[in-house]
Amino acid sequence: MNCKKCGKCCRYFITWLEEKPTDDFIRWVSYHKKAHVVFYSKLQRYAVRIDIPCSKLRNGLCSIYESRPQDCRDYNCEDSRYPKPFTEVILKSENK
Ligand code: SF4
Ligand code: SF4
Repeated sequence: MNCKKCGKCCRYFITWLEEKPTDDFIRWVSYHKKAHVVFYSKLQRYAVRIDIPCSKLRNGLCSIYESRPQDCRDYNCEDSRYPKPFTEVILKSENK
């Protein structure tokens, strides 16, 4: 792939949810700074996204590129099996 080295994919991390989150869960997550419940429409999957950059990111580039974790090596933002950075819908609680 033609990585533009924009560093977007290193500025957050996500944890996948197995099922549709309840409104109460969305509300609980929303109380935490930099955390959001999100929905990836192309993948039809829910996740919690935490907007904390990787500590190994330096000036938009990976400072441990040669020894980066396998998940980083596998990720390809042009591959439809992976979520594109910040293209998801952030879910809001009705009763925040
Ligand atoms: S994989 Fe994609 S999002 Fe990540 S640095 Fe490269 S172009 Fe940017
Ligand atoms: S280890 Fe490197 S490639 Fe992986 S998330 Fe951190 S900065 Fe990005």
